[in-house]
Amino acid sequence: MATQGVLGAATLKEFEEGLSGELVRPADAGYDEARQVWNGAHDGRPAVIARCADAADVRHAIGFARSEGLEVAVRGGGHSIPGFSTVDGGIVIDLSPMKAIEVDAGGRRATAEGGVLWSELDAATQEHGLAVTGGLVSTTGIAGFTLGGGIGWLMRKHGLTCDNLRSAQVVTADGRVITASAAQNSDLFWGLRGGGGNFGVVTSFEFDLHPVGPTVTAGPVFYDGARAEEVLRFYRGFAAEAPDELTSLANLLTAPPAPFLPEEWHGKKLIGLIGCYAGDVEQGAEAMRPLRELGEPVADLIGPMPYVQMQQLIDALWPRGIQTYMKAGYLRELDDPAIATLARFHQEAPGASEIHVQHFGGAIARVPEGDTAYGERGAPFVLNGCAISHEPGGLAPCVEWARSLYAELEPSLTGGGYVNFLAAEGQDRVRASYGEEKYARLQALKDRYDPTNLFHRNQNVLPSGAR
Ligand SMILES: Cc1cc2nc3c(=O)[nH]c(=O)nc-3n(C[C@H](O)[C@H](O)[C@H](O)COP(=O)(O)OP(=O)(O)OC[C@H]3O[C@@H](n4cnc5c(N)ncnc54)[C@H](O)[C@@H]3O)c2cc1C
Repeated sequence: MATQGVLGAATLKEFEEGLSGELVRPADAGYDEARQVWNGAHDGRPAVIARCADAADVRHAIGFARSEGLEVAVRGGGHSIPGFSTVDGGIVIDLSPMKAIEVDAGGRRATAEGGVLWSELDAATQEHGLAVTGGLVSTTGIAGFTLGGGIGWLMRKHGLTCDNLRSAQVVTADGRVITASAAQNSDLFWGLRGGGGNFGVVTSFEFDLHPVGPTVTAGPVFYDGARAEEVLRFYRGFAAEAPDELTSLANLLTAPPAPFLPEEWHGKKLIGLIGCYAGDVEQGAEAMRPLRELGEPVADLIGPMPYVQMQQLIDALWPRGIQTYMKAGYLRELDDPAIATLARFHQEAPGASEIHVQHFGGAIARVPEGDTAYGERGAPFVLNGCAISHEPGGLAPCVEWARSLYAELEPSLTGGGYVNFLAAEGQDRVRASYGEEKYARLQALKDRYDPTNLFHRNQNVLPSGAR
């Protein structure tokens, strides 16, 4: 490998000696495991992987990358859909060993390091009956997730994850370790709430917590996919009236061979309505009742359950190593033509591909648009065409399907996008996700904190001089 040759043994040794964590090289036994990311569609072969133990290690790794001219990939939980957290021939600054979590139950705050996963933070906060909006799949990392925005089951009541960020410790491209909050480096703090990993490596996150559960009313109800249009029309009206406590989504899927679904339905098209009520269990049951009353459900799993169980409900359906691509945006409205298109593409979905229509609004829309870098808060629904293949080499037709779905839905879409659901779609799509005004503000931040674009393996905000 060219870069490795350029690096040389002595240079690497010096780097390793300054690292408290582990340095993994291509010849090391653990290399293949250490280089793996969640999305099996990406198979990067980094020259080195710096498994950082603390902020000093991150600083050391950034300095090394700069001095050796290495391309940088930053890894939290490793769930980047476009594979940004790996790289061919460069350095992975891997925060996954950084797992410290502190919960201040009285002050309703938690501090978590950059390698923490949602399963880990949820477990720690739920010990105190507290939580912050986290991912639908609990193996996802808090780091990339929060920096891009953070869409999860508590969002309509408690906001996006980034809305609950109080401060962050950041190692900048020039090796400074700084705090960003409303009081310190507030310009950077604005950019970290939606602007992704563009401005530095966040080694620790401080979140506001809220009382949640520990038991909540939540879960899915599934209907025959042939009824998708009828169910989506119902869902449109239901969502418009739903209380903020209820976050829900419509899931157009092919039934997996899961024990919670009757065997005769395995492999057939289903539409699931899934929700979580962040409030009183009985009120939750009442609020979710209409979802269960559409007649002849294939399976109805809505009921009281521990919040941590809800957070892990679909983990098994999203195992590490499956190949995935997403084509996503926001629906201006869930109009009849959009519903007809969604139903048609659902029937044609290849592999394990599925469509999510997630209800937005509530607390998300109450945060003024300009308060954070997050792209777009006003849309009623998020659309996510998830191309998924469990077969090696099977992703291409799924990607084609997701792109066609998006293209046909375009008249009903806002044109914006959520950066954590984007594929590697280029500058125009990144700009459109933020809008020109926010993009210009992000670019000014980039000029200030990362003018050489060291951190470019992300939904990249270009420094103003770059093309
Ligand atoms: C199975 C699955 C389920 C998902 N579910 C949801 C969901 O419910 N809601 C939602 O909003 N999103 C969801 N996503 C998308 C998810 O938010 C992004 O993939 C996110 O980037 C994952 O964060 P990570 O730390 O695991 O990713 P990584 O791959 O580790 O990082 C992704 C990018 O984030 C940046 N980054 C990571 N760590 C740091 C850091 N410490 N400092 C600075 N930059 C950093 C880097 O640019 C990096 O390339 C899901 C993704 C998957 C694969």
